Amino acid sequence: MIHSAPLILPVSAPVLREGAMVVRHGRIAALGQRREIVDAWPGEEETRWDGTIVAGLVNAHTHLQYTHMAEVGRRRYASFEEWSTAFDDVYSGSSIDWAASARDGARQVLRSGTTSAADVVTDLVAATALRDTGLGGLPYLETLGDTDAGWAASGRERFVALLEQAGLPMGISPHAPYTLDTGTLRDLARLARSRGLRLHIHLAEGEHEREYTVSGTGPLARMVRELEFDFAILREGGTGLTPAAFLDELGVLGPECHIAHGVHLDADDRALLRARGTAVALCPRSNRTVGMDGPDVAALLAEGNPVAVGTDSLSSAPSLDLLEDVAVLRDLAVRQGYRAADLDRRLVEAATLGGARALGIPGGLGPGGPADFAVFDIAGGREPYRALIEEGAGRCVATITSGKMAWDSRTSTTVGC
Ligand SMILES: [Zn+2]
Repeated sequence: MIHSAPLILPVSAPVLREGAMVVRHGRIAALGQRREIVDAWPGEEETRWDGTIVAGLVNAHTHLQYTHMAEVGRRRYASFEEWSTAFDDVYSGSSIDWAASARDGARQVLRSGTTSAADVVTDLVAATALRDTGLGGLPYLETLGDTDAGWAASGRERFVALLEQAGLPMGISPHAPYTLDTGTLRDLARLARSRGLRLHIHLAEGEHEREYTVSGTGPLARMVRELEFDFAILREGGTGLTPAAFLDELGVLGPECHIAHGVHLDADDRALLRARGTAVALCPRSNRTVGMDGPDVAALLAEGNPVAVGTDSLSSAPSLDLLEDVAVLRDLAVRQGYRAADLDRRLVEAATLGGARALGIPGGLGPGGPADFAVFDIAGGREPYRALIEEGAGRCVATITSGKMAWDSRTSTTVGC
């Protein structure tokens, strides 16, 4: 099958005008000028798209199972702690079917042109949503609220059993530096490394996280005490380390680990993440919902940190359309003084190649790589990356994963319905 369009953005290679690609057994067999491809592959069936073909977007941080908690995400909050309380009220008192909620989320993600996601799974029944809908990427099994004593007594055994029970490849997601005890965080990193699994953790999301790890005080410390989690960091009066340095000390950071949010990172933290090869999945609309300004995307780009983009879940974001977050990041970067002419390309790279790197999967479009791409109803013009960022949200007409149609607006179907 040949797919052709007036414009193709492989992202891993220069923009192709009047391009085409050959898809065989779920992979790209060839990519180039349409005329040459059609001549070289006579008799191959051709799907001619109007608009722009783009390498699959990668949503590097979401929780698809919270899709049916959208009522929480539609409100605005004065602080992270206020949002957290609203979230817990709905999560713990709900009778939501997490598996169905996650599948709905996966379909929404596919409809936005996203072909892979890092999906944090709190309840194991939600783990198959990616596989069930044709969405690529990796589910990460989350844990939180474990004290070292509880972890040693039964928590570890229970967590490992769930990983094995899943029956599919999963990463490990320790929730955050303030919701797990110190030894448990260290052991989760060890567990991931010993089994060759990837890691993903929320880091530096709220402004009080630093106070918590440095001195074991502040609103997060109060929240942890109210939840009656007897963590070492509270007993010992903190670690004197920033949240990033704290995780590094515990062996959590590394190229197979990526973090979500990274709003409150100082220059040393950013340097540490670069040194460890740890990517940051930025989720600016979620940050806004919980009452924050957003990450320092200008500094992260200028300093060369590995950057990806995530929507977070509908419990803190208005949609699962990744390009809406990319557009907000663009505005933020400009306001923060990012002046280089490469901004649009680099943000699209973050939303594709950056996410793929964070998850440890191939990204971009090229011969031999997976046929993961989306078609957008946009002309592109002279600045195709900019056009995608400014006009792409809500304009995806088809999403193809591993060469198969996973979302087709012409028939309004997603698979796994
Ligand atoms: Zn999250």
